[in-house]
Order: sequence, then structure tokens, then C-alpha cells
Amino acid sequence: MNLELIMSDLEKRNPGQPEFLQAVKEVLETIIDVVSENPKYDAANIIERIVEPDRVITFKVQWIDDKGRVHVNRGYRVQFNNAIGPYKGGIRFHPSVTLGGLKFLGFEQTFKNSLTTLPMGGAKGGSDFDPKGKSNAEIMRFCQAFMAELYKYIGPDKDIPAGDIGVGGREVGYMFGMYKKLVGDHNGVFTGKGRNWGGSLIRPEATGFGNVFFAEEMLKTRGESMKGKIVAVSGFGNVSWGSIIKANQLGARVVTISGPDGYVYDPDGISGDKVDYLLELRASNQDIVKPYTFEYPSAQFFEGKRPWEVKCDVALPCAIQNELNLQDAQNLVNNGVMCVSEGANMPCTPEAMELFLEHKVLYGPGKASNAGGVATSGLEQTQNAQKLNWAAEEVEAKLHSIMCNIHEACVKYGREEDGYVNYVKGANVAGFIKVADAMIDQGVI
Ligand code: NDP
Repeated sequence: MNLELIMSDLEKRNPGQPEFLQAVKEVLETIIDVVSENPKYDAANIIERIVEPDRVITFKVQWIDDKGRVHVNRGYRVQFNNAIGPYKGGIRFHPSVTLGGLKFLGFEQTFKNSLTTLPMGGAKGGSDFDPKGKSNAEIMRFCQAFMAELYKYIGPDKDIPAGDIGVGGREVGYMFGMYKKLVGDHNGVFTGKGRNWGGSLIRPEATGFGNVFFAEEMLKTRGESMKGKIVAVSGFGNVSWGSIIKANQLGARVVTISGPDGYVYDPDGISGDKVDYLLELRASNQDIVKPYTFEYPSAQFFEGKRPWEVKCDVALPCAIQNELNLQDAQNLVNNGVMCVSEGANMPCTPEAMELFLEHKVLYGPGKASNAGGVATSGLEQTQNAQKLNWAAEEVEAKLHSIMCNIHEACVKYGREEDGYVNYVKGANVAGFIKVADAMIDQGVI
């Protein structure tokens, strides 16, 4: 496998898609040995096939705001790979959404879903629609217009979307409602549904819970645990919230949250009522980071800065891609960080990741550490198919067991000669083998 040749060919075929190229390069660099040692992959031209999405769907979304003005956004669904199961992956509504960004996320999702051990292929979708500042009625009209096109391409055995940035329970509800009206079936086509109409308990918290379970497993390899650790978290969305709750439950002290405008440092810890207060602000569609410091004067707001300058034992980047760069990584290493576990997808730049690996930091890449969200979506699908609702304890126990299994798979394929576990390599190799072997089994189709 000639990596340089493959990458230069990919650059030509995917111009202006740096995040996609970054994600592919990271995976190929770590699976190169497996491919060289197993001629079957080369014989089936697996690399060229696995980096090309099965299908890219783009469509126009027209909707009317509360003042009667007509708007146009662009909708996408990237169905990346369904070798091991129906397509599965979230929908993102954010002005930064582009085709290249969604291809990166769909590619990552393919390997992540493979790691969960559940039968799910990889996909991602979304729109450049900005939900911020929109009324409830505007959000509903947009979601309905989006689904008026997307419904043609999804189904419970075909492609099962879920939430992501800008898409929570409310948006899933509006999209599901429109799907149901158009198709006439009440089926498990979406995950992240409301709890009284097919949603799974624990799904909203699952990504964050899984992220902390994964961090705990990494810490255990060094005889450590979350108990007593100082934790820096970025963002305060779905994933950050779940991570904060579980980190507190395991006895850690979370000292930061952040937004695009800066971060809050609260040395007393962010837990209990403080988390409830943040949730209230978020639900009322307000800025959350600055107002927190008005309510809790012990906290400080650092405008335009990121939380990675704070001294911490564990860092949980949970906001957005490339939010932790080389300088941030250097700050964390200088401050003695022990473990970095990614709640977001690809929040660390390649240079930051290299530095963590060089310094033998316990570093969990998102496709392993944040796989708990999609795994619990898989559990939601199972409950829908069985027409059953499992208790929260049962779902959490299954989630915990899946995260431990993912950790084990990473250790199996990522342990180096000196005993250090390279979780990036471990996750990529474990995810790749299953998908590639399934593609070979199913022939050239
Ligand atoms: P949310 O929209 O719920 O939260 C995103 C958070 O990040 C918000 O607090 C947002 O602040 C903040 N944010 C956005 N841009 C920046 C920035 N540039 N700097 C700092 N903070 C920023 O999204 P999720 O929590 O669902 O997703 C977060 C990440 O986790 C994404 O990478 C997503 O792909 C990944 N992920 C999510 C899963 C899920 O189950 N939801 C599953 C697996 C991965 P504000 O609201 O003020 O813009």
C-alpha cells in the first residue's frame, strides 16, 4: 500500500475537503501494517473501496420564517458503508456543515459502528441551517421541510438517522413526525426518540456516559480511576452534559465548560444544581457560559480562550472537531494531564494527537471513546424491534459492557512493545478488519 499515492489521488478527487482527508489519512496510517500483512485486502482493492462513500445525497430545503420570508438551505445524507448493517449516523444542523465535513463524519462513523460490535453501517447527514435564535415554529417547519426530501432514502432496515450538533430530542421529534406522516409507518427509523414514543432510557446521556466509562478503563490500565481526578470538559451540549454527570458520579471534580466565545473555570466543581442551572439556560436557547459566572461568582470566564490551559488530570474535549491544537496539547502535557478521552468527533488536531502519543498520554480517539451514543442507539433499535422498553439500569449496564469491550479491542490491536496502548491504532485496526472482511465476503457489488 503506497500511502502517499493514495492520499494524492484522494486529494485530487476530493478537493476542498480537508477534514475528510485528515480523517482518512489518520486511519490509513494506522492500518498500513495490517493491509501489508494480509494480501486479501490488496487483492480486493479494499482501501480504494472503503474510502469512497456508497452514496451522497444532496437536496434543497425550503422553509418559511415567522415573518413570512422564504429561506433555502442545503440538506445532505452521506451513506458511507453498509457492509455490516444498515446505515446509521446522526444529523447535524449547523452553519458550518459542508459535504466534506459530513464525509469525514460518515467515514469515522463506519469504523466507530464496527467497534460497537452491533450490526450498523456508517452514515452522516445534516444541513447548513442554523437553529440558533430560531423560534420553535421555525425549527418545526425546517425539520418538516428537511424530512420531506430525506424520507425517500431512509428506513428501519435501510438507514437510521439520529441527533448530533443542533439536533436534539425536539428536532428528532419533528423529523420523525413528518416521516411518519409521509410513510404511514410508526417504526424505529430514528434513534434519540422521545421516551414515551420508542426512545431508550439513557440515550441522551449515553455518549457522555460512555466517554467517561472509556476514560475509566484507560485509567485502570495504570492502576488509576476517575475518583478524585480534576477534569476539564469543553462545550456544554449533549455530550459534555453526560460526561459531566458521569464524571461526578465516579468521584471526579469537573472544573470547566466552554462555548465558542470562551470558557468558564469553576474550581469548586460543576455538579448538582449547577448542572441543572446550565440545562435550564440551554433549554431556553440562551448563551450559557457567561451567565454561569453571574450566578456562581466563584467561577471565572475567560473570553476567547479554550479550557486546555487549566491544570487537570483528565481532559474531555466534547464540543467540535479540531478544537484542541498542538499548543493546547502542549499546555495539557506541561500541566501533567494523564488521560484525554474524546467525547466529540476528531476534536484533537493531528499534531495534538501526535504529541499525546509521543508523551504516552492515555489518549482515547472519538471513534472508540464516544461510541457509547451510537451503541445505545443500537440498543434503542433492538428495543423497538422487540416492542419493549428496558429499564435505565439495564441499558446502562449494556452500555458499560459495550464500552469495556471496545476498550479491550483497542488494547488487543493497539498494545505496543513497551506496553503502551496506542488506542488510535487499536480502534482503527479493530474497526477496519470487521468492515473490510464483510466487504470481501459480499463480493464486488
Ligand atoms: P451539541 O450541539 O449538543 O453541543 C455542542 C456544544 O459545543 C455546545 O455547547 C456548543 O456551544 C459548543 N461549541 C460549538 N462550537 C464550539 C467551539 N468552536 N468552541 C467551543 N465550544 C463550541 O452537540 P453534541 O453534544 O451532540 O455533539 C458534540 C460533539 O460530539 C460533536 O463532535 C458530535 O459529532 C459528537 N458526538 C455526538 C454524539 C451524540 O450522541 N450527540 C455521539 C457521538 C459524537 P453553543 O451551543 O454555544 O454553540
